[in-house]
Amino acid sequence: MKNLIKIKDHESIKFVNEINYFRAPEKIYVPTKCLKETFKINDYVFKNTIFDNYVSSVSGKIINVDEILYNNSKSEVLVVENDYKENINNKNKKVKIKSKEDLIEVIKKYNLENIYKKITEIKDISHFVVKSIDEEVYSIKQLILLQNYYHEILETINLIQSVLKLKQSLLVTKNTNFNSIKNVKSIIGTYPNIMIRLVEDKYLIGEDVFLCKHLNYNLQKTLILTVEEILEIHNIIFGHSMVETIITVSGNKIKSPLIMSVRIGTSLKEIMSKYLSDLGTDYDIFINGLLKGYRIKDGEDILISKEIHSIVINKIERKSITNCINCGACKKICPVNINVKLCYEKKLKHKKCLGCGLCNYICPANLKLKEIVSGDKL
Ligand code: SF4
Ligand code: SF4
Repeated sequence: MKNLIKIKDHESIKFVNEINYFRAPEKIYVPTKCLKETFKINDYVFKNTIFDNYVSSVSGKIINVDEILYNNSKSEVLVVENDYKENINNKNKKVKIKSKEDLIEVIKKYNLENIYKKITEIKDISHFVVKSIDEEVYSIKQLILLQNYYHEILETINLIQSVLKLKQSLLVTKNTNFNSIKNVKSIIGTYPNIMIRLVEDKYLIGEDVFLCKHLNYNLQKTLILTVEEILEIHNIIFGHSMVETIITVSGNKIKSPLIMSVRIGTSLKEIMSKYLSDLGTDYDIFINGLLKGYRIKDGEDILISKEIHSIVINKIERKSITNCINCGACKKICPVNINVKLCYEKKLKHKKCLGCGLCNYICPANLKLKEIVSGDKL
């Protein structure tokens, strides 16, 4: 395994350990590709309505159909005007899980596609690992979840471990996540089969392939879930829907970085108009980090989905792009040994690319290597 590196953050950007709750957006957006049935303007939507793989986070009327950026693709969305009544139609029922089959059925029913894929693809699970690892600097979503919901997380790990008939499970977090570690250690004695393992704060240590190498586990036989996925399962079991998500808002253009819990489907523009109205115009917005993430176009709005964990707002800095100087740094740093320069020159996407952005980070010519090799949009 290549030596993983630590990415430097901006020393002045420090989060205050306090969550800002933004629970009353004027509108939320529901991507129409997440809908099984057809909805019309003026239809009423209850909070907690489960669409295909999306939950309405408020109640109210559909007032419009619009377009917005949803997970980096322009998508058609229904606009739901919040009536602030928090009306729920059918309360979700608690679910009993007694076997692996029950677990798989529930995960399938609630469209937790990623988890379903992971559990069903591994024929013979020998290890169960739950990770609370944020890779990008300025993203602390997994840390905050573990710090605040450690009871629920340990309880659910214990349940999954028992239905998978495993003797032990591992909770992995970075050795810098002091508060989470303290909280978990205060109750982990109640769960003698759950071990906690601390890993160094290195970029990509949370990638399944590197994590398994580090733990000396066979990737093909290890079920790895995030603490967020564990909470999704927990919420289903207890009949709750996940209508909020944690994001961080930071960057060198912002005076006070924020940790926020916002309703899924809220637009970034509405959050900015409430919390960051004095920013001016000379900034760039990056979604999900400066390395793996993407910059949105000026004036573009995005829908906050559960896949979004960080918003970085930086002063505009346009680095000048020059010709490749054949320094070899991109190949040397690539964690999966891709000949990055060659792929870039031939405009080839490489299937092994992790989209980690280390090649862009290191390139002295400031070339957009990751975007070509990973096949991301430029
Ligand atoms: S983005 Fe892809 S090509 Fe670039 S360093 Fe990461 S894995 Fe290698
Ligand atoms: S890091 Fe940039 S300049 Fe160096 S070889 Fe790779 S593409 Fe060329």
